[in-house]
Amino acid sequence: DPLLALAAAAPLPAALLVLAKDHRKALELQRRAGDAGAGMAGLFSEYVNGLPTVKAYSENDAFLGRLSAAIGLFGRRAAELAASLAGSIFKYELLLGASPALMAFGAAWMLSQGSLSAKDLILFIIVAPALLSPFSVFEALWLDHLRVKDAFRRGEGLLDAPAAPAFRSSAIPRRLDISFESVEFSYEPGRRALRGVSLSIAHGGLTALVGPSGSGKSTIVNLLLRFWDPDRGSVKIGGIDILELAPDDLLEMAGLVSQEVFLFSGTIRDNIALGRKGAGSDEIEAAARLALIHDSVAKLPMGYETVLGENGQGLSGGERRRVAIARAFLKNPPLLILDEAGSGLDPINEAALQKSLSRLAQGRTVLVVAHRLQSIRRADHIICLEGGQVAETGTHGELMERKGLYAKLWTAQEAAKRWRLGRRREDG
Ligand code: ADP
Repeated sequence: DPLLALAAAAPLPAALLVLAKDHRKALELQRRAGDAGAGMAGLFSEYVNGLPTVKAYSENDAFLGRLSAAIGLFGRRAAELAASLAGSIFKYELLLGASPALMAFGAAWMLSQGSLSAKDLILFIIVAPALLSPFSVFEALWLDHLRVKDAFRRGEGLLDAPAAPAFRSSAIPRRLDISFESVEFSYEPGRRALRGVSLSIAHGGLTALVGPSGSGKSTIVNLLLRFWDPDRGSVKIGGIDILELAPDDLLEMAGLVSQEVFLFSGTIRDNIALGRKGAGSDEIEAAARLALIHDSVAKLPMGYETVLGENGQGLSGGERRRVAIARAFLKNPPLLILDEAGSGLDPINEAALQKSLSRLAQGRTVLVVAHRLQSIRRADHIICLEGGQVAETGTHGELMERKGLYAKLWTAQEAAKRWRLGRRREDG
């Protein structure tokens, strides 16, 4: 019956109009709740990762305060969103619910007029709800759409980030003579980390980067490995601008052994094997022997199959670092970058570490980011940085003679050795 069908369908446009009208506001509230949720999650993982530092510096209360503020904000935003969505859905459902009511009025009127039989009415009552059922699914789709749209917004933000410039040739440098030519770089606008740095690192030699903390040592390594690209100037290897090298070739060339060793949860074997895809058991073991970690591993009940916990739980600090060195032996890169921040190891572990590192350095071009000058005394070339600029360069002897920044750093470090907690060694 066309009239009854019309009565049943009449509220639908109004119901859809309600959602259309609330759509923009719902998206905005979804965005605010999503941002607050992301902020809370970020802070939470920062807190968990930094827990030892936070506790050691008694910053727990302050950090928990920030965290609970973020949780509170997310709670409020989520409640705001839920209230608004509930309002829209309520109006929508109410209008959909009007459909049977309108139909009943129509039917009553038609029955009284005699234009509808009781039999047809019963049939209609059975069939009509099927007309509405797609529209109750529609509201669930609308809610999904809001969530997905917001998730896409975040994803698009990532995808819109400018891509690293693509390489132009597949050149591979023959020699690892590295040069920085008038390199300028800032991590953030307005704060230059490198100011016109020009330096060279000779093929096959041991070059050390020294300087006060914040002077730009790690930044030089970051640019050399293309974790970042310079704002101005260029970095060349064997005369080829590294922007022209395939990123994989560049990373293939260089091995980085840094203070912060990242071990994955998995077996010790898997962790060493990361150095080179498809390495065999004997190669892994040979690398472990060279890194002086084999004996420690062999002593473990499960040996190389020992499963490490998250970030290498189950190994001492010194052992973890030697696992990283074994990785580098396996990779066997011609260029080795050592970031050897103050080791904090006991003398036995320290000696093993130094021995395995100097083995690793043999026959390679080595760049050391040195925090303790003692260990780079015999470097072929020392580059001393200050405030993002090259302050002076030379050998240890030359730099000591200059009596400049390097000599000052050296004297300060020698003096620091004579100090113990609160008391001078010569005093007692
Ligand atoms: P160094 O290794 O000599 O201690 P860095 O190269 O780490 O020095 O730092 C040089 C400058 O760049 C410092 O002022 C430091 O605060 C800044 N910096 C380092 N890393 C970052 C980063 N990821 N974001 C912003 N600034 C940074």
